[in-house]
Parts: sequence; C-alpha cells; structure tokens
Amino acid sequence: MKIRELRAEITSMLSPSAEASTDASVLIMKVLGINKTQLILGDAEVSDSAYREILGYAARVAGSEPVQYVVGECEFMSLRFKVKNGVLIPRADTEILVEAVISRLNSQKNPLIYDLCCGSGCIGISLAKYIDDASVFLADISPVALEVSKQNAELCGVSDRVTVISMDVTKDVISEAADCIVSNPPYIKTGVLATLDKKVRGFEPRLALDGGGDGLDFYRRIIKTAIVKDGGLLAFEIGYDQGAEVSALMKNGGYGNVEIISDIEKRDRVVLGYKML
Ligand code: GLN
Repeated sequence: MKIRELRAEITSMLSPSAEASTDASVLIMKVLGINKTQLILGDAEVSDSAYREILGYAARVAGSEPVQYVVGECEFMSLRFKVKNGVLIPRADTEILVEAVISRLNSQKNPLIYDLCCGSGCIGISLAKYIDDASVFLADISPVALEVSKQNAELCGVSDRVTVISMDVTKDVISEAADCIVSNPPYIKTGVLATLDKKVRGFEPRLALDGGGDGLDFYRRIIKTAIVKDGGLLAFEIGYDQGAEVSALMKNGGYGNVEIISDIEKRDRVVLGYKML
C-alpha cells in the first residue's frame, strides 16, 4: 500500500470528524517518521507493521482520544512539546497570551517570569525560548505536569533558564517579586464541564479545567496573592465570557492599564495589566 492510499483510508475511518484529514496526517507522519512533503508526495510504500500500528492509533482517535495524546506530542509557538494524559494539550488560542507577553516584555532586561498552573510548560518555555535573557519558573500542583514540563524545557533547549517548582496556587505564594506572572489557569465553570466535547471531557485532566462554580476561583486567588514588582505585568488566558469579570478583579486588585485581547474569532481570550505603584 502507498502512503496516499493509507491516508485516504485513515481519513475515511476518522470521518466525519472535522479533524479527520489532519489527524490522519499526524498519525502517518509520526509512525513513518516522514515530513509533510513526503506525505503529500505519497508514493512510498508502507510496510505491514507500520500499517497495523497506524490502524491501532487511528482506532484510538476514532474513540475520541485526542491525537496529541496518541502520538505524545504537539506543536505550539513553532516548538515541539511532549504531552500525555494528565496535562492539558496546548491550544492555538494560548499563543495569543504568549505573543502578548513577549511584545510587552521586549524592553525589559533579564525578566523574571512565573508561569502558574504551567501544565505541559508550553507558555513559560516558549517565553524562555523567545526572550533570550528571561529566567522562568514553571509552577504546578500536578506531579505529571512537573515531570512533563521538565522534559519539555530540556527538549526545547532552555533548561538552563527554566526551573520547575511544585506549587499549589490555592495555598502557596511565590517567594520573590516577579517582573511578570502569566497563567492559563483552570477557568471552566464546574457546571459546564459535563457539556464539553468528549475529547476534552473524557481525556483531559479535570484539574486543569475546573475553575470552580463561576470559573473565576484561580483568577481571584492569583490576583490576591501574586507578588509582582511595581510596574510588572500580570497576564491571563481567560474564557470567552470572562473578560469583564477578570478585568474588574484585576483593577480592584491594584492593576492598571488593564487590557482585553481577543482571539481570531473576536472572542475575549487574554486579560493583562500592570501592578500600580
Ligand atoms: N481552553 C481550554 C478548553 O477549551 C480550557 C483551558 C483552561 O481551563 N485553562 O477546554
């Protein structure tokens, strides 16, 4: 069987999912160790063992398991991150938060950054990668997240400037004032969790999603306890309907120039502000 036939077969197996074709491509490229060009050319032969392996993976994706968990990795900010059950899969929307922080820290020398509720570490590690002189702490309560983010810091070549720390943000506070605290905390309302897509609900960690009754528990706590230097930056990813509430919490918590940034679908996605003197 040729790659192009295999691609058609796996795509039809994963249909009618909107991601059928991309998921099929991801599985085939991973197992065969080929790039996009080789995939598109599609005329190389696929061995029986590779075919069986890909079919097995495709069956898991057909059962709603996210393809990123099946292949154990995903792309974020043009970097490769390891992911596995127990850490949230990095979302394209979260790149908006990373880009906003990079542009706002660009004149700051040696910024000290904390990424709270770091999960895979994708936010803090991308910041370390794209801000040459940044020192970054990645904090999470989950041992799996700490293990995965440590590996990701090494894979991305920034482990010399990235430190992983175990921290329960509902109880602990950071030990020194940061130039920037960034966080994509759990923000889904507890009552909404059961309505999420099966891919998310069935496979991704509830710990990374559940933001309490009104979804705002972690914002309240972090705004109250974050130690940010005067003039320093606090930046959050938020749910599409939380812009007004999180902005108000930040203003009441002593932050100024509070700004909401939208995603490409024009939904509120990021709130940031500066600690007032
Ligand atoms: N954006 C995630 C989702 O769509 C939620 C992430 C979070 O709670 N921080 O499921």
